[in-house]
Amino acid sequence: MSNAVQHIVIVGGGTAGWLSACLLAARLPGKRITLVEAPDIPTIGVGEGTWPTMRETLSAIGIPEAEFLEHCDAAFKQGSRFDGWRDGSAVDSYLHPFTAPPAAEMQALAAAWQESGQKGPFAAAVSPQHSVCAANLAPRQRTMPDYAGALNYGYHLDAAKFAALLMRHATMRLGVTHIAAKVTGIEAAANGDIAALMLHGREPLDGDLFLDCSGQAALLIKGHCRAGWVDRSDISFNDRALAMQVPVQPGSPIAAQTIGTAHEAGWLWDIGLPTRRGIGCVYASRFLSDERAEEILRGYIAAKMPGADAASLTPRKLAFATGHRDRFWIGNCLAIGLSAGFIEPLEASAIVLIELSLKALADNFPQSRASMDIHAARFNDLFRYRWDRIVEFLKLHYVPSQRTEPYWLAQRAPETIPPRLAECLALWREQPPSVWDFPRVDEMFPAASQQYVLHGMGVPVPPSGAAAPARLAEIAAKARALTAALPTARDYLDRLSAPARISA
Ligand SMILES: Cc1cc2nc3c(=O)[nH]c(=O)nc-3n(C[C@H](O)[C@H](O)[C@H](O)COP(=O)(O)OP(=O)(O)OC[C@H]3O[C@@H](n4cnc5c(N)ncnc54)[C@H](O)[C@@H]3O)c2cc1C
Repeated sequence: MSNAVQHIVIVGGGTAGWLSACLLAARLPGKRITLVEAPDIPTIGVGEGTWPTMRETLSAIGIPEAEFLEHCDAAFKQGSRFDGWRDGSAVDSYLHPFTAPPAAEMQALAAAWQESGQKGPFAAAVSPQHSVCAANLAPRQRTMPDYAGALNYGYHLDAAKFAALLMRHATMRLGVTHIAAKVTGIEAAANGDIAALMLHGREPLDGDLFLDCSGQAALLIKGHCRAGWVDRSDISFNDRALAMQVPVQPGSPIAAQTIGTAHEAGWLWDIGLPTRRGIGCVYASRFLSDERAEEILRGYIAAKMPGADAASLTPRKLAFATGHRDRFWIGNCLAIGLSAGFIEPLEASAIVLIELSLKALADNFPQSRASMDIHAARFNDLFRYRWDRIVEFLKLHYVPSQRTEPYWLAQRAPETIPPRLAECLALWREQPPSVWDFPRVDEMFPAASQQYVLHGMGVPVPPSGAAAPARLAEIAAKARALTAALPTARDYLDRLSAPARISA
């Protein structure tokens, strides 16, 4: 291994591996990048909801937005809707939209909404995106520049098609070398670093920096570096999912947000793509059997997609450990993706962590081995902070629930609530969430996100400062203007794939 960091070796060809290859090749021209993946070990094949960060990522990688949308069967995601989380009643639903008011305005808007007698849902009062989502509209016009929007948005996508698009882009346009071979062992350097990977049927592959994107196998970070595991299952109970892909009728509406519907021991995701809906049942195996989970999944599909032929479909079973590594970067090995950890799919925090890891790495790329330990220590501190905030924010979705099934009662047992969240909840009885609670400039879930969930779950949040009723009226006017002007998501996406038919 040379002292200069020239050759980056990535193990794994899932979303984490190919995003890493594309982004690092685009951001670090001149570096040599090789991705090795085992042809007979499948990727996890789920992970269909992204954050708005994906627009910046795809733009940096150099993929035109229309190409991405078409090749990945993708649709727009403008937030998450939570049905049945508060008490399970028919009217129990709230939206956590991606478009939040400016931080400085949030308190004045919340105060005005409370003074108005909490007329309508909180998210509808403070964000025009609520109306746009309710009407299944796209967040942008076709004439806008790539990745620009009238509202903030991410995507829903087909994970397998996404990895395939990234692979083509990386190898054909960005000069990444792709090796299809299983990693069978590791050759260590004298200082404990990884010197080379042993490959099945091929010469060893040496490198300067190794990215472990091997998914749940965590081949390098666990196998070689012996990173510890921080188990979070005492807080976050869900450890299983059943996933199904149900074809939709041509022309049917495409939902503008992920729909998460609570059930007796977990929740269901429902993600609309142009040709299918990805529907999954997430649950805690200590509260629900696989058989009952499948019944819940099939019951949901029957209720929400009458006429869909789901009887012939078999759900995929996925098991996942809940937690993360105690360190993500050790020596010359950095874990990105599932190898770093996973906390259930609620709020889709996994792919965005891949993007944030890559941004941190590319912005602070170690030019030599000499600086690597400094970068590693900083990275580990920052990402430990991020995992802690994710665990707390996801738990916030459960703690205020009034549902009475054993799973939901256990979710709000005091010993399962992280101390910092308990502290925040105590503070938020007297003052709303603010930057004082989330002081970093790049918080994943800022005060506005906490406020959407608290109000959505019916937690009384005290107002702070003067109300701004005139701004509420302006937001309502903007919502009317946008709903009149924006195309439906279905219309926008169908026109992409059939320009000839539409213009004929
Ligand atoms: C039920 C569920 C739902 C999810 N939903 C979302 C969501 O909506 N949004 C979101 O952001 N995230 C979601 N995630 C997480 C998301 O799926 C992952 O973060 C993402 O797919 C990245 O996976 P990965 O690339 O790390 O691993 P994988 O996709 O598992 O890829 C691992 C790769 O490593 C390779 N490999 C393994 N062993 C070897 C070896 N010995 N030699 C060579 N190669 C090897 C494999 O061949 C494969 O290419 C979800 C996860 C689950 C479990």
